[in-house]
Amino acid sequence: MADELTTRSALQLRDLVAHGEVSAEEVARAHLERVAATDDQLKAFVTVTDDAALAHARDIDRRRAAEEPVGALAGVPLALKDVLCTKGVRTTCGSRILQTYRPPYDAGVVERLRDADVVVLGKANCDEFAMGSSCENSAFFPTRNPWDLDRVPGGSSGGSVAAVAGFQAPLGVGTDTGGSIRQPAALCGLVGVKPTYGAVSRYGLIAFASSLDQAGPIARSVTDAAHLLAAIAGPDPRDSTSIPKPLPDVLAGLDDGVSGLRIGVVAEFMAEGMSDGVRAMVEASVERLAGLGAEIVEVSLPHAGYGLAAYYLIAPSEASSNLSRYDGVRYGLRVDGATTEAMMAATREAGFGSEVKRRIMIGTYALSAGYYDAYYAQAQRVRTLIARDFAAAFETCDVLVGPTSPTVAFPLGELTADPLAMYANDVYAVPASLAGLPAMSLPVGLGEAGMPVGFQIMAPLLRDDLMLRAARALEAEVGFDAMPRGPNALAGAAI
Ligand code: GLN
Repeated sequence: MADELTTRSALQLRDLVAHGEVSAEEVARAHLERVAATDDQLKAFVTVTDDAALAHARDIDRRRAAEEPVGALAGVPLALKDVLCTKGVRTTCGSRILQTYRPPYDAGVVERLRDADVVVLGKANCDEFAMGSSCENSAFFPTRNPWDLDRVPGGSSGGSVAAVAGFQAPLGVGTDTGGSIRQPAALCGLVGVKPTYGAVSRYGLIAFASSLDQAGPIARSVTDAAHLLAAIAGPDPRDSTSIPKPLPDVLAGLDDGVSGLRIGVVAEFMAEGMSDGVRAMVEASVERLAGLGAEIVEVSLPHAGYGLAAYYLIAPSEASSNLSRYDGVRYGLRVDGATTEAMMAATREAGFGSEVKRRIMIGTYALSAGYYDAYYAQAQRVRTLIARDFAAAFETCDVLVGPTSPTVAFPLGELTADPLAMYANDVYAVPASLAGLPAMSLPVGLGEAGMPVGFQIMAPLLRDDLMLRAARALEAEVGFDAMPRGPNALAGAAI
């Protein structure tokens, strides 16, 4: 039974608990056992919160027995990216500088998860301060891809994704600044959703690039992801960029199909750059959507090609400002020095890894007098042009599609010496991020080396519902099996 529980979807587990067929505690125990049995290999978690998870599960069981109310996803386990603050539970951002930091409050997302009675199993590994595309920038250890333990799971939300793909949890929460939910979901055969910017609270999401950061769901199916989004989305007055009205209902029309929708294939995304295996699966997916009755048109985002350059100025600029708070005085690590300045320098030298330092330097340079106009301001202009390109495309299309990532998961170590090659992973992800649009990845087949390929769907602002609806239709047609397989895969959750 325990093995069998870990193969269930989030909704199946919710229903089993709701009908009293299993207890929330049994569900939590089964998943914690799977974590204990597999995480030496997978390395998805920085911190496993067994006791808190079991206590929450028992409380759900107690309330059910007493006929007191329980939340909408009561008893469903989840892996939480370690950039979201959890009261009293250390929140590291994958960084030495926050290695022992225990926030005094819960993030807005964490409060909503608790309201839904989602059982958080622990804090999942990530690239340091969410900067990276492989999870190799974690200060602690790299996380592995369950489909091939010698390959990266993608990043930066690699731990949350590996946990879901490895059947340690049916749900995960990641954060996406320039692809960090979508790209790892693509590389591990999962559904990953970056909601409309402002739809999910950033309160207690430790900032990387505040104008881009957005938390969102990771799941093995579109339906599970949509239910998780419904649980975590909504206004939060503590986040000044939170949209002050509820996200349109993402569940009501989920199964309405794509017949009659106009789907735009982004021409710039289909030019060279992606691997043959990715291209084959993306093209086949477009064909399938046509077969389902969607009208397929080609659209252009003329400035999308400048997206990566603009992103890698804007995100580091914001990061250089946001990360100035780690000064050895208020949070986390402190390394003593003879003067205050020496203490701050020593703390930051010891506390930050090389990618974070690289971004702080790029961002500080781009924002400095004399360079600001040429770099930061110019990047902001490009950002506006990209947003206008999308607005024009959505005048004729309901949703846009293309690849999520140019390649399948690559071997650990392959790109660590070449930051530009690592950044190139984000080429298809960043345009929607810069425009604040909802965008998601869903698995559509296997490419090179039998590794999963993701297909990206982007929608107009606040049309997360339309995006999920298109994804649900394609998912049903593709019938992707999320169980990792292949010669070097993590041993499956036995049935
Ligand atoms: N890979 C991108 C980066 O390194 C995206 C990161 C993210 O979305 N958090 O910045």
